[in-house]
Amino acid sequence: MKNVILARLSTIPVPGQRMDLARSGMITERDISIDGDRVVVSVNVPDGYAADLAELKALIEAKLEGLDGIGTLLVVMTAERAAPPAPEAPKLKKRPTEAPGPDMRPQSAAIPGIRTIIAVASGKGGVGKSTTAVNLALGLRSLGLKTGLLDADIYGPSLPRLMNIAARPEIENDRVLPIEQYGLKTMSMGFLMEEDNPVIWRGPMVVSALMQMTREVDWGALDVLVLDMPPGTGDAQLTMAQQVPLQGAVIVSTPQDLALIDARKGLKMFKNVDVPIFGIIENMSAFVCPHCGETSHIFGHGGAEEDARRLGVPFLGAIPLHMAIRETSDAGTPVMVTDPDGPHAQAYRKIALTIATRLFPETDED
Ligand code: ADP
Repeated sequence: MKNVILARLSTIPVPGQRMDLARSGMITERDISIDGDRVVVSVNVPDGYAADLAELKALIEAKLEGLDGIGTLLVVMTAERAAPPAPEAPKLKKRPTEAPGPDMRPQSAAIPGIRTIIAVASGKGGVGKSTTAVNLALGLRSLGLKTGLLDADIYGPSLPRLMNIAARPEIENDRVLPIEQYGLKTMSMGFLMEEDNPVIWRGPMVVSALMQMTREVDWGALDVLVLDMPPGTGDAQLTMAQQVPLQGAVIVSTPQDLALIDARKGLKMFKNVDVPIFGIIENMSAFVCPHCGETSHIFGHGGAEEDARRLGVPFLGAIPLHMAIRETSDAGTPVMVTDPDGPHAQAYRKIALTIATRLFPETDED
């Protein structure tokens, strides 16, 4: 099948070069991922590529559409041209909040239909970032906001598991339709690939896949899109923070010192690209014993709160380490859904309210 696809692609000449797409190395066998009748083709666009990317994408789609064995086709352009060189960009322009303004980066223009976007980030993996993002998104929704959730962790997408989604997204008029679950519009690379057959992404591909998931998904009208960032503070995360028009970011951290050191890197990353930091959420804060109800501060106490104060960023709240959160999260039935009036849901909703107040200060009259 991959050979058939490559053969088709070898009929597309690369503008300005005496080569076709397959021979140019822009698409190799490794860049084609097949899962049943779903095919993802990643095009590795070189730095100096001067021609129109949308045109190239359309050409590829036209060549492959209707090919036997292809049900759903996703062509991911992996151009990084629009991004400023990440590590060497110490001071970047402010991102637009309402109108795009004179910002020269075309990628960071506002996305039609989406009023605000916030990133949920962490300095490292395993701190409960995705669980927090899911419950916060549900919390925002419970406040009456039209909310979307984009799982941008394309290395280890967890949304299918956390939201119990096994469906595959439909594609309509070249746009991917988000999957609705628990009242949220959701999208994840995990919807398009097999869990045990992960795609190997190269740095620039990550960013471009994210851009497509942000811009080519038919989100409709959203008050807020919650972006569950990949863990860590590497180049991919930095470029995302630059290219997506973020209104703000929240950092999820556990109380351990190490995590806090990592969390600081997260803060710095957003500060460097002028994204306002709404605050730090301390996750897995205190342990509440499910049997006796006693609270134990296994990882110490107040670390994140003190740290936030020291760093001059708001402390948004603490979420306890609780069996109910782990069980519901891993079962795909978030605690905001299973126990919306319980103490955990209340903790998430309280943080969601603080975030909503930052996002929509003018409409937050009680
Ligand atoms: P990350 O996105 O940071 O990698 P996850 O959200 O996948 O982290 O969480 C990692 C694990 O920790 C999961 O098993 C999840 O259910 C669990 N978890 C997250 N937050 C809590 C919490 N507050 N209490 C108990 N378990 C939690």
